[in-house]
Order: sequence, then C-alpha cells, then structure tokens
Amino acid sequence: MGPPAGLSTALDCTAPQTLTPTRIVELPEQASTGPQDAIARLPHEWEQTVTSWGEPAYRGRQVFEWVHRHGVLDPAEMSNLPKALRARLAEDGVSWPLELVSSHVSDDRTNKLLVAMPDGERVETVLIPQLQDLSVVTQCVSSQVGCAMGCVFCASGVAGLKRQMSAAEIVAQVLLGRRELESDQRIRNVVFMGMGEPLHNYEALARALVLLTHPDGIDLSKRRVTVSTSGLVRQIDRLGRDFGGQVQLAVSLHAVRDEDRSAIMPINRKHGLDELMACLRRYPLSKRQRITIEYTLIKGVNDSVADANAMVSLLRGIPVKVNLIPMNPISASDLRAPDASHVTRFQERLTQRGMSVFVRKTRGDDVAAACGQLAFHGEPRRTRHTSSRG
Ligand code: SF4
Repeated sequence: MGPPAGLSTALDCTAPQTLTPTRIVELPEQASTGPQDAIARLPHEWEQTVTSWGEPAYRGRQVFEWVHRHGVLDPAEMSNLPKALRARLAEDGVSWPLELVSSHVSDDRTNKLLVAMPDGERVETVLIPQLQDLSVVTQCVSSQVGCAMGCVFCASGVAGLKRQMSAAEIVAQVLLGRRELESDQRIRNVVFMGMGEPLHNYEALARALVLLTHPDGIDLSKRRVTVSTSGLVRQIDRLGRDFGGQVQLAVSLHAVRDEDRSAIMPINRKHGLDELMACLRRYPLSKRQRITIEYTLIKGVNDSVADANAMVSLLRGIPVKVNLIPMNPISASDLRAPDASHVTRFQERLTQRGMSVFVRKTRGDDVAAACGQLAFHGEPRRTRHTSSRG
C-alpha cells in the first residue's frame, strides 16, 4: 500500500517539541492518488494539488485545515474557499476512505466502532474514555486488516493478515472517531493497539504519525501517541531515528524466556529477547520517558513468581513501566487469565524489585473491545496452545 519507492524526500515533520535540534522524517511522496487517499496529503502536497488546478498555494493549506483540524470533507462546507475550488474539490477532492458500519457502547462507555473500507474489508477502532474523567478519550486504532504476526493469544493474529491499511485509512479512524464523541469529550491519546502490527506497515504508519501530530491539523502531542509493537527490531530503530524517540513506544513482551515467548509470539523466533532488549536500550528517550512493556498474564504460561524474577533481570537498565494485562478470553483460544490472587502476587514481586507496574483494567470487554479482542467478524480459526514448559 505504500507509495512508490524512489520518490523519497526529506520532510520536516514540524514538531515544535523536538528533543534534538533537527529531526527529519523521511517520507516518500504520496503517489498521485484519488479522493479516498486525499486525507493522507500533507499541507505542501495539497499546495501542489491546488496549484496544479490554477489556485494559489495557500488554498492548499486551507483545504488541509478543513480536513484535519475541522474534520470537514464536504467542499460545500469549506466556507472560506472560492466557489470554483469547491466545485473542483467536489469532483476530484477528498472523500472518506472508510465508513461507520456500527457502534457498540459498553457499560463503561467504551465505544467500539466497526468501520468498512471501499473494498469491503472491515476493521475496528475503539474510543476509551478515562475512568476518572470521561471527557478525556484515548482512541485505539488499527493499522492492518488482520495481522501476520500470529500471536496465539490475539484474535487479530489468529485471523492472519489480509492487507495493509493506507495512511488515509489509519488517520480517517481518528477523524471519524471525533465525530462519535460527546460534545464535552476530546481525543487526547491515540494508541496503535488495534488490529495489526503497526511497524509491519511502516510507511503508512510514519505518514499517519506526521498527519496526526501536525500542528495545522489534529495536532496531537507526539508524547500522546503510542506505537505498540510485538518487537520488530529494525523498525523500532527506524521509528526512534525518524521521530527522535518522541513517539511513545510500547512493546508486547508477554514472556521472559525465548522458548516461552517463541511459543506464543512467532516473531521471537526471528528477533529473540537479547536482540529485542539491545534494541530497547538504544531507543532514544528523554530523561523522564519510559518504554511501556505490555505483559498479558496467561494462566500457567507466564504468570509464575519465577517469571516475575526473570522479567526484572531481563529489563534491568532499561527505562520501562510495566502494564500487566490479565488475558481477555477470545473464542479462538483456550488460554485464560490467572486468578486475581496470582495477578496480585506477580505485581507485588515486580514492585518489590523496584519496577513501576500497573495492572491494566480491562475496558469494554462486554463488547469485545479490549486488547487482543479486535478481530474479523466471522469465525476465526480455533487454536490450542500448549505451554512450552508443559
Ligand atoms: S498481538 Fe499485535 S502483533 Fe500479535 S498478532 Fe495481535 S495484533 Fe498482531
């Protein structure tokens, strides 16, 4: 889905809060695309588009602001544009690359949105209001239709990769999510923890990150955008280089020994724990920043005190905070969460050893919107898992 190679250009990602004096994101030019990819155009690309239509360049920035800052895609509503440009936009301009199919609001007000793309593929994105302040919303977005990584505890992984999502489709989830908010709510955080491995779709992800954080558009703080990965080492390095460590990184660890991790996360057979830890050690972080370690607690697989001790040794010297996630059951797997007492025991052992640990409260589980539960509608393959430790 990425634009053609060979058209690379250095693009200032216009970050006001750079940690290093110059931070340049290398993005390929957006290929000449149709209205459904127009959401992925950056301001200078809109300038090129409108000047090719005989309009002054500044009109391009105005179009970008309508789309990204105001979420307006209907040219008739772009009130500060001349009639001729609105007419041209109506013909060749910008249209939604996805549409809302359904929305399911959970008891805790988590809102799971099912969206469809023009080719009929569907993904889910979830609006999660903070428990303490329902006006502050975190949106969980998808980056691929399905996922190739095959983690056995994850509904998306079980379903397999169907296709990459475009940058327009990724960003459109947030534009569409904003329309579903209550009037007092706003999206403060975006987490790439929906369907897909975002770093396996790097070009589209990088463009989406620049768009989501663009000051003339949605203007999210980079520190409020989290990319979650199963551990694609080369792409973690690239993300660190391209965004100077400002984008938050979350790593799905889920096991602390290679044989155990390889049994539940096939990516570990390619990039083992030593390689992954070395990569995290060099990820550029500011002094107070931490990498989030996601650890799904699975009964009898990775929830022992010995596992907790091994985690402490493994992560020594890396600035991390640990999120423990009691496994959400999925229909495609027999794996289950440990008893609450085991969760507490695991957490206490890490805390005693000086780690910063949180047990993530499951949100939206009554509408299957919690982590690892986003999947295709329809019947996924059913898998069984046998712990490598027997
Ligand atoms: S946990 Fe993430 S990387 Fe693993 S299969 Fe699920 S979506 Fe893919």
